[in-house]
Amino acid sequence: MERESLEMDVVFVGAGPANLSGALHLARLVNEHNAAVEDGKKEGKSLGEIQIAVIEKGASVGAHILSGAVMDPRGLAELIPDFREQGAPIEAEVNDDHFLYLTKKRAIRSPINPPPLNNHGYYIVSLNRLTAWLGEQCEAAGVNIFPEFPGAEMLFDRNEQVIGVRTGDKGIDKEGKQKANFEPGVDLLAKVTVLGEGVRGSLTKKLIQRLGLDEGREPQVYSLGVKELWELPDDRYPTGRVTHTLGFPSDQWTYGGGWIYGMQNRIVNLGYVTGLDYRDPLIDPHAEFQKFKSHPFIAKLLAGGKMLRYGAKAIAAGGWNAMPQMYSDGVLLVGDSAGFLNAARLKGIHSAIKSGMLAAETIFEALLKEDYSSATLENYERRVKDSWITPELRRYRNFHAAFRHGRWLGMANAGLQYVFGGRAWGIIDRDHQEAGHEAMQKLSAYGYRGDDVSQRYQDFRFDGQLTFNKVTDVYHAAVAHDEDQPAHLHVLDTNICSTRCAEEYGNPCQRFCPAAVYEMVEAGPAANAEGSNGGSRPRRQLQINFSNCVHCKTCDIMDPYQIINWVTPEGGGGPDYKGM
Ligand code: SF4
Repeated sequence: MERESLEMDVVFVGAGPANLSGALHLARLVNEHNAAVEDGKKEGKSLGEIQIAVIEKGASVGAHILSGAVMDPRGLAELIPDFREQGAPIEAEVNDDHFLYLTKKRAIRSPINPPPLNNHGYYIVSLNRLTAWLGEQCEAAGVNIFPEFPGAEMLFDRNEQVIGVRTGDKGIDKEGKQKANFEPGVDLLAKVTVLGEGVRGSLTKKLIQRLGLDEGREPQVYSLGVKELWELPDDRYPTGRVTHTLGFPSDQWTYGGGWIYGMQNRIVNLGYVTGLDYRDPLIDPHAEFQKFKSHPFIAKLLAGGKMLRYGAKAIAAGGWNAMPQMYSDGVLLVGDSAGFLNAARLKGIHSAIKSGMLAAETIFEALLKEDYSSATLENYERRVKDSWITPELRRYRNFHAAFRHGRWLGMANAGLQYVFGGRAWGIIDRDHQEAGHEAMQKLSAYGYRGDDVSQRYQDFRFDGQLTFNKVTDVYHAAVAHDEDQPAHLHVLDTNICSTRCAEEYGNPCQRFCPAAVYEMVEAGPAANAEGSNGGSRPRRQLQINFSNCVHCKTCDIMDPYQIINWVTPEGGGGPDYKGM
């Protein structure tokens, strides 16, 4: 197949806060340098016109961006010091912090806020809006932004140096044949490619495996955040108030907590995080969130209100010890792709922005030296280590690992870490954490009897007013994919689904996916005792409703057999998180 090649200088894959900040900062550094050289204020040669591209799989910048979000403004203030005067979309300044412990019936307010959750003076934002605004700043600075262009494949030279990225083909039907509107993807060649794909990026995952960038690090661990926006009938929840919760509905072995943020115009943004290292194979993070809303305190808050929007996204929670090597020849990793989130503070926007800026400064150095190898790009890690990111992330380096011991010991451990500079239990420099999918126990080991997978939520009902099933919620994520394309969820061996997985875990993909993508459907009676059904029950097979997918990446992370591979669908497909 003939493919067009486009020569760029720098390609950023993914239009999230890290990459947009990097692209903007780089464009400015180059422009300032060239102007200073031309004016004779600086020695050296002009870099000329540097072509910077940002490619984005969503239909527009911000379409796939989802976060809580309360933003520590430190990163944005370094990128754009007068961001408020420049019109950055800020929902509210945080003026009221609450921390609640939820029992089944009661909400107990803590007299003190845990220090990492002190949010006074920070900003409640819609990250979708903030990202769209950053995209506008980039375009004004001369950055080329290409929405609907997913990065489908990394391009390497024979020395394993990354030389760019191939974008996804358009116009392939579900049988894999070319349609009338077929357009092959383009090879975007670049001196440096920056991966800012967000959590569990599909190119980042392959690159880390191929180059062994995670050697000697702790495995990355994840959580899943599920959220809704609600419009309240009155001002009962003030703009600028931030509430975090612990307790109900999580059991003490499941990492999790809720949030409620007051936005403008009587809108509240609320959600629930479930650690993707849960043990109970019947846990359903979407159902956990719905149960959270059924708590008397939350139900009263939402009474008479209307659910407006829905979304879900995985969060990289492993912290400092799980960050991969962030550079190789011709490539850098930024933002959530490199795990810059501070899980204790529930903050990552500030460090994502800073990581993009540090990547830009390293690329600028590489352009001046005309050296795009690791010898120059490794200076990105040095810059990260010399920046304020490192003391912040190192202080919480063992935070997530602490909760392997359950909620209460986890909190005690986290408290000791806070006092002793991040040392687990006050003494251990680096605590081990296992990959999240390894924590999931088999049905029998967890104590479930039989194969009834509804046991955990059997008394819980979705009433369509306060609590919603996945299909209703997905409608509110405005998801759209062309149905006539190959599924972008690749299950490497579907036999496992109807045999081992059904028996051992009760097909947990049906539960951990927050968008009802995976469904076990009847495929006729079992013919004999081969497999797990023993001929006595109807045979079931996996059906993938890929058009529901909200791109949260949970299935790629949490599948116990690690046989689900999320790849980019045709450009433009996916959720539209406007205002989220
Ligand atoms: Fe998330 Fe996977 Fe479900 Fe898509 S299919 S919504 S990536 S869990």
